[in-house]
Amino acid sequence: MIKIGILNLQGDVQEHLDATNKAMAKIKIQAKTLKVETAEEVSKCNGIIISGGESTVIGKLIKEEGIDQVIRENNIAVWGTCAGMIIVGRKTDYQQPLIGLIDMNVKRNGFGGQKLSFEKEIEILGDKFPGIFIRAPYAHSVGDKTEILARVNDRIVAVREGNCLATAFHPELTKDTRIHEYFIKEVLNCVE
Ligand code: GLN
Repeated sequence: MIKIGILNLQGDVQEHLDATNKAMAKIKIQAKTLKVETAEEVSKCNGIIISGGESTVIGKLIKEEGIDQVIRENNIAVWGTCAGMIIVGRKTDYQQPLIGLIDMNVKRNGFGGQKLSFEKEIEILGDKFPGIFIRAPYAHSVGDKTEILARVNDRIVAVREGNCLATAFHPELTKDTRIHEYFIKEVLNCVE
């Protein structure tokens, strides 16, 4: 049975856990889901979700714990949402610890000014999805191997590279579990 861990360092962890459980039930996939905090716990997972929150704080704790190292060593699938998207990227406009799993340059608080937070229906995976953006980042450039999954006003808000996924918005704050279902299936594909 696959194991999906929600990184429990800061941010909307419980919401991701609930959404992952709901998604699994929907697609009838048996998996173990749990909150994880240490490198040892992360190393036993097939997939990890890094929630929204404050990317500087989460990134620092990831490095201190050596979690980035076990993710690489074990080739664990990772999905980062919002702050998590910043952390899985390779570059940002600010000096902060990143894991660098996806070749992209991310702009923090990219939708600044009066639009720091907003809701907008986006197109992703061939369908519409309710995007909740909270001081969201966007990627202003991506590498050749990075697949762009969604944009808002030409700004890249969802990408995928290998077994790593990043979304600038928060699917865990909606009732729609399709992106969680997508990630669970990706994790399964990596294991099989
Ligand atoms: N702006 C935050 C950061 O830079 C991310 C916000 C969020 O995760 N909702 O870390």
